[in-house]
Amino acid sequence: MRISAAKQKYLRQLPAIDKLLEHEKLQEAFRSGSREITVEAAQQVIAAKREQILMCPSEESLQGIDISPTTLVQEILDTIENRNVLGLKRVLNATGVLLHTNLGRAPLPKAALEAVNAAGVGFSNLELSLGTGKRSTRYQHVEKLICHLTGAEAALVVNNNAGAVFLALNSLASGTEVVVSRGELVEIGGSFRIPEVMTRSGCQLREVGTTNKCYLEDYRNVINENTALLLKVHTSNFKIMGFTATVEVHKLSRLGREYDIPLMEDLGSGMLVDLTSYGLPYEPRVQDSLKGGADLVTFSGDKLLGGPQAGIIAGRRKYIEKIKKNQLLRALRVDKMTLSALEATLRLYLDQEKALKEVPVLRMLTISEEKLLTRARDLHTRLQKNLQGYFGVEISREKARVGGGSMPLVSLPSCQVSLKPVSLSGEAVAERLRTAKSPVLCRIRKGQVLLDLRSIQEDEDELLAETVVEVLETVVPPEKEKEKEQ
Ligand SMILES: *Cc1c(COP(=O)(O)O)cnc(C)c1O
Repeated sequence: MRISAAKQKYLRQLPAIDKLLEHEKLQEAFRSGSREITVEAAQQVIAAKREQILMCPSEESLQGIDISPTTLVQEILDTIENRNVLGLKRVLNATGVLLHTNLGRAPLPKAALEAVNAAGVGFSNLELSLGTGKRSTRYQHVEKLICHLTGAEAALVVNNNAGAVFLALNSLASGTEVVVSRGELVEIGGSFRIPEVMTRSGCQLREVGTTNKCYLEDYRNVINENTALLLKVHTSNFKIMGFTATVEVHKLSRLGREYDIPLMEDLGSGMLVDLTSYGLPYEPRVQDSLKGGADLVTFSGDKLLGGPQAGIIAGRRKYIEKIKKNQLLRALRVDKMTLSALEATLRLYLDQEKALKEVPVLRMLTISEEKLLTRARDLHTRLQKNLQGYFGVEISREKARVGGGSMPLVSLPSCQVSLKPVSLSGEAVAERLRTAKSPVLCRIRKGQVLLDLRSIQEDEDELLAETVVEVLETVVPPEKEKEKEQ
């Protein structure tokens, strides 16, 4: 590549690293930190500038690259500081989508975090029975609890629900046929598709019925000596409407008993409480499926259950025992942090009222509209006071969603504070919020930025207000900028 004369000239103007390091502020950085880190940061910043100059498309835009010593020194100091900032961090979810796979799904209950802290700070009795002093299994800490809450005889926990389905299929039906209704061959987020998972687990898929209708007789007609499992999959992320028929769990299980074939239901969402009294539609609970006769149920720990990422398999002892013996369990096993968070989350469910108060997902699902409106008004007042003139600030009443592949048709009444920027695009405002020190994720609608309070936890309101003010106060419309200069 030929480097133009203008670029060469600009490159020569870049200060030498040694020279830069003489700057008072960097000398200070030497004293308070390590010389090596400061030098490395200086090299990084200079290398980035060099690259920027070389890639610059035109000579006019060269002038836009700031290489003044003050800027370079500041960039070096920022680079040093950023070394200590964690990449994976808390974000404020003002999108109005409660369970967002990109945002880590369920926020954990405080009790879960305390448990992780307690079990993680030192050693733990992960695989030790303190009573006998003998070796035990890691699953001991949650199995009884899951059984108590769901009515299952036995239970097992693995890394996630995709793993749970895979492991169960592989353990119970490898080399044989599994019957599934055509309308339940779902795909969950990208790479998890029931037919593919089935193939990978060594089973042969036996589809029955049509996309919209499936009858008990359809199942009966394909059962043969090679059939090992009936599988029912909760269509958790879509709905087939209109002219439809599916076979209920209790009927399928009766059919299974007739032929001595177990029934497994993949529920996905992992609901343990009935929220219909809060105006939400009925979502099948784990205990309903087991009571209805499912021999095994699989579900996620971090969807509607509101705990850590995990896959739970609950049901009849003889099948769980078989799954426990599968060598693949080792590859899918959960660690002590997941187990302690899950145990603490499940314990909250021993008292349903407590679960509704302390499991963030349940709290967000059931919070009243009045409360949301009060919080929105507080935020509105605060933003109005600080951002007036630069933004139109209003309250809007759009719907929120459950998300994360759960309750696809449910729209939850919600409240937002909407910001209409005078001089910026909605996207530009969203970017500033997203790249803040405490990143805020929002929704954009017709050039306005919506901050939905249903997906924000109440104790985050203050941080949200502070961050939005801090980030957007600096957005001065161009005409104001000119006024200031005059
Ligand atoms: C979400 C879901 C899964 C996958 O669960 P993960 O915990 O994301 O692995 C599988 N089946 C159903 C029905 C689901 O809803």
